[in-house]
Amino acid sequence: MQMSSLSPETCEIVIVGAGLAGYAAALALSGTGADIIMLDRGTDKAGNASHSDPRTTALSPSSFKMLSCLDVLSACRETPTPISAMKITEAVSVPKWPGGLLNFEGTDDGALAYMVRNHDLHAAFAKVSRNIPNISIRQGQTVTDMEQTPNGMQLTVNNHQMICDLVVACDGRQSLVRDFLGTRVIQRDYHRAALVADFSHSLPHENIARQIFKTDGPLACLPLGRNPNGDHVSSFVWVEKTKRAQNLSALSSERFSYALSEQLDGALGDIEISDTPHCFPLALMLAENYAAPHAVLLGDAAHVIHPLAGQGFNLTLRDAATLADNVFEAKMVGLKACDMSVTAGYQLSRRADAFAMAGLTDGLNTMFGTSFLPLSWLRHAGLALVNNALPSQAKLAGQKYADRGTTAPPRLLRGHKFNG
Ligand SMILES: Cc1cc2nc3c(=O)[nH]c(=O)nc-3n(C[C@H](O)[C@H](O)[C@H](O)COP(=O)(O)OP(=O)(O)OC[C@H]3O[C@@H](n4cnc5c(N)ncnc54)[C@H](O)[C@@H]3O)c2cc1C
Repeated sequence: MQMSSLSPETCEIVIVGAGLAGYAAALALSGTGADIIMLDRGTDKAGNASHSDPRTTALSPSSFKMLSCLDVLSACRETPTPISAMKITEAVSVPKWPGGLLNFEGTDDGALAYMVRNHDLHAAFAKVSRNIPNISIRQGQTVTDMEQTPNGMQLTVNNHQMICDLVVACDGRQSLVRDFLGTRVIQRDYHRAALVADFSHSLPHENIARQIFKTDGPLACLPLGRNPNGDHVSSFVWVEKTKRAQNLSALSSERFSYALSEQLDGALGDIEISDTPHCFPLALMLAENYAAPHAVLLGDAAHVIHPLAGQGFNLTLRDAATLADNVFEAKMVGLKACDMSVTAGYQLSRRADAFAMAGLTDGLNTMFGTSFLPLSWLRHAGLALVNNALPSQAKLAGQKYADRGTTAPPRLLRGHKFNG
């Protein structure tokens, strides 16, 4: 392949990947005044790239604050659905300790979380970003090589060379940028897949999120609005062993609806799914390092965790807000976006948070994934104990930890912009 002989294009920050993580990083960093180019190999126009993503995201209160502050939520087509309470139970087939049910409720100052559809969020990100002068979005641009030079990170993009101070890798779980940096990944295949789709139901969800733990994985039902017919709608994330998940996704809508309704034990009345569920393979993947000279990893390129706590994208927003704080503070004192204080500070705070969240979700998955009778009773008694005996402040502290992470929350998560 012939290379262009022109001198490399220069830029302050290059973001590789225009998925949810790439857009979150671009918008967060735009407030620092940095010049940003975001590249994606997808050829669709920005905003349509993930139109087929059927997933929904439960935004934590801090994430909600950050996306409101970045004007993203007001650009969504659908108003986010607040989750006012969460019910955690075990499947009917699991032997139970009496009263073994865990309930969480929202507080007076807000909901537990807010549901948004991924494709709606992605389109809103694209709409807002297009109007920001220091963000340039380029589609159909594949990063095929990368090397550190004395002047910064040099990228080969299609046939073109670019040099930047900082590369932000948002290129997903199979990140090529991570490979170029030689970063090792700790990984574990869960041998499970998550089935995801919307369904309508005859009984109202009352803004309650439901999570049922089965031996092979959890089933979550997350409240959404109503469909054009006025029916109540929720989204499900149903985890099963990979083979069974594939078999379930091949069922007709009627048979799948029946199978789902059996799992829910009538909790939402008559149910109907309209689309074939998508199947997402589940794995734990943690990059050993989140930063290198002139580069940081963000989003799924840095961490892929079990979706049972719905925290993957919430972690990503904390990554983006932390990076933006670090870049802003460096630039305020005349340092570059690639300064050691930026990359080393990012690594220190984000790696610890992601490892803690990965440990938590992995531990919950293991604890609920056993059918060994004494353990199952112990777990059930534990749920009852936590629900009845734990003071509400302690439950609240747990929720706050999951929402804000291990370090003090950065500006955007507190709802503060850089420019006022
Ligand atoms: C079943 C399921 C349910 C989930 N539910 C929740 C939830 O409720 N709450 C939550 O917080 N999180 C949740 N998550 C996690 C969340 O969905 C993901 O973390 C998030 O979608 C990942 O976004 P990303 O931008 O990092 O990666 P991706 O969406 O994979 O985007 C990567 C982008 O990089 C581009 N790219 C790749 N390589 C290159 C290259 N070489 N050059 C140029 N471009 C490139 C791709 O085209 C793509 O657009 C869930 C995950 C799963 C699997």
